[in-house]
Amino acid sequence: MATTGKVIKCKAAVAWEPKKLLTIEEIEVAPPQAHEVRLKVVATGVCHSDYYVLYEDIRDYAFPCVLGHEGAGIVESVGPGVTRFKPGDKVIPLFVSQCGECQLCLSDKTNQCVKNWTVDEKNMESKSRFTCKGKVIIQFMGTSTFSEYTVVREVALTKISDSAPLDKVCLLGCGISTGYGAAINTAKVQPGSTCAVFGLGAVGLAAVMGCQAAGASRIIAVDINKDKSSKAKEFGATDFVNPKDYKKPIQEVLMEMTDGGVDFSLECAGNVDVMRCALESTRRAWGVSVIVGWVDVKDVSTKPVDLICGRTWKGSYFGGWKSVQSVPKLVSDYMDKKIKVDEFITHTLPLEKVNEAFDLMITGKSIRTVLKM
Ligand code: NAD
Ligand code: ZN
Ligand code: ZN
Repeated sequence: MATTGKVIKCKAAVAWEPKKLLTIEEIEVAPPQAHEVRLKVVATGVCHSDYYVLYEDIRDYAFPCVLGHEGAGIVESVGPGVTRFKPGDKVIPLFVSQCGECQLCLSDKTNQCVKNWTVDEKNMESKSRFTCKGKVIIQFMGTSTFSEYTVVREVALTKISDSAPLDKVCLLGCGISTGYGAAINTAKVQPGSTCAVFGLGAVGLAAVMGCQAAGASRIIAVDINKDKSSKAKEFGATDFVNPKDYKKPIQEVLMEMTDGGVDFSLECAGNVDVMRCALESTRRAWGVSVIVGWVDVKDVSTKPVDLICGRTWKGSYFGGWKSVQSVPKLVSDYMDKKIKVDEFITHTLPLEKVNEAFDLMITGKSIRTVLKM
């Protein structure tokens, strides 16, 4: 390619400061270094976790940066030592790496990897291949898909089918895979069971889809936005409950509806109080509750007795999928019509309208907006 080995100048949405709108800038993207791949981003979803880093995370530790971690693109060039990718490959960048060699990758107990970007947080500047106006721009989560081009480590990239539509399967880079896997892999929902999913954004709706795929006989969808009811039913929910319609705590409502609690619950709202409600909505003797919503600046609590009696409280990161090996299979499952993806996309906008995409999400008007480059 004509650009191989050269700096590429392109458009990106830069987050200069926390709690400020992203601005479209021309950035410089350096060539990939050893074991890195540079790709042209074709499309990217906008996830609540991007919004969280910009507006809700009080630590404000990663600015200026380019957000975005739900993208799909085409390899432009590869750095020295890269053997698994070549220019032209269709790929999905991964915010959870899978090096395949570390003690975590070698264990079937986890989808974590010691080479994951989060462990590199202290060296964020040195890991970045982006500059703008003379400043290093952090590549948040090692993905930075709110840019026309990005550089990722080969352990955090996966090759997908040549026929996959990139403006759809980008959502398998985070939200859909996360919720679906949280139900199937982490909760391990059983056939005939009763489930509750709290928070019906893309992650929660994907969790509903996972509960249905696992054979749950009753799926209670819970959201404070009444407009989510019909969408939840489209994804397999049998009941919709709006906590605002009740005076009593929502866990009591669910307990009564199910004669003692659901077997499985999943928290996909990202709120520590909802996490507690989700736990306490499960059957005391054997309920399993999974935390999927992302919070790292507040504590979550419950009474120990609520666990002592037999409940299990778990968390799920990227739906428990070992990323490099699983995402291409999820793409195939979508193309074989085994899982939904198109139904999550309510809006498509150009990169320039990324702030509008955040607004649509936070006001509950969208499920997922896909930004096209
Ligand atoms: P979203 O903003 O699109 O959806 C959140 C939903 O929760 C909305 O429908 C909202 O109305 C609902 N909600 C808010 N408060 C509620 C309450 N008190 N009770 C019930 N429902 C409530 O977000 P999303 O993109 O679907 O992401 C959901 C969460 O998952 C976020 O916290 C995100 O950061 C997190 N996340 C985690 C992972 C992971 O690996 N664990 C990956 C992706 C996203
Ligand atoms: Zn995400
Ligand atoms: Zn690893």
